[in-house]
Amino acid sequence: MRFAIFGDIHANLEALQAVLQDAKEQGCTHYVCIGDIVGYNANPHECVELVQSLGCPVIKGNHDEQASSSSSLEGFNPLAEEALTWTRQNLTKEDIAWLNGLKFVRQVRDFTVVHATLDTPHKWGYVFNQLDAAASFSYQHTAVCFYGHTHSPRAFVRDGTVYSIQFDVIKFEMGKKYFLNVGSVGQPRDGDWRAAYAIYHADRNYAELRRLEYDIETAARKIIDAGLPRRLAERLAQGK
Ligand code: ZN
Repeated sequence: MRFAIFGDIHANLEALQAVLQDAKEQGCTHYVCIGDIVGYNANPHECVELVQSLGCPVIKGNHDEQASSSSSLEGFNPLAEEALTWTRQNLTKEDIAWLNGLKFVRQVRDFTVVHATLDTPHKWGYVFNQLDAAASFSYQHTAVCFYGHTHSPRAFVRDGTVYSIQFDVIKFEMGKKYFLNVGSVGQPRDGDWRAAYAIYHADRNYAELRRLEYDIETAARKIIDAGLPRRLAERLAQGK
């Protein structure tokens, strides 16, 4: 059983298509989306439709929440705010209702998924360091939890103490807990522009990080054509 775990798509259809194509080629049998389907890029409706077509577990990200509510955009940076205002106008009523109904945390088989943190999932804190991860671990009841939100792939491990590692492949060992960031499909911020997602090999107890080139020119051109901030197109190639 192979799970493709992917999120932070941010309406980047070209990146999402590349990820789903790769997941298929890699023999993934199941899909789990860890949120932020919309925001920043130019195809929010198409990305919602494509994720829905998978019929897989999906959880809510902060951009999904903001795009599907009428509350003020306080706390978002100006770029995100401008993109969210545009996103709200480019989703259908059905898209909005569906995004609004997503849960913050879910358990899928033997693992958990959350967009931001397990200690306060609806507050959208960022897990960047051991201290942040330790707080989340105290609410983690499965050995493995996948998350997103920072757009930087990284694994936190609790084995007595909490430490973090970069990973390409990570083997899950008995007695330890893992909090794994699978990176971002549509707007990576770790200096690598390629789309990121993870494959969880449930039968063999390990996960691998995948990085994929995609048609970034088309994604960037669509942002500009849509009248979204030019900076959102430029940052794709910089991977930050
Ligand atoms: Zn995000």
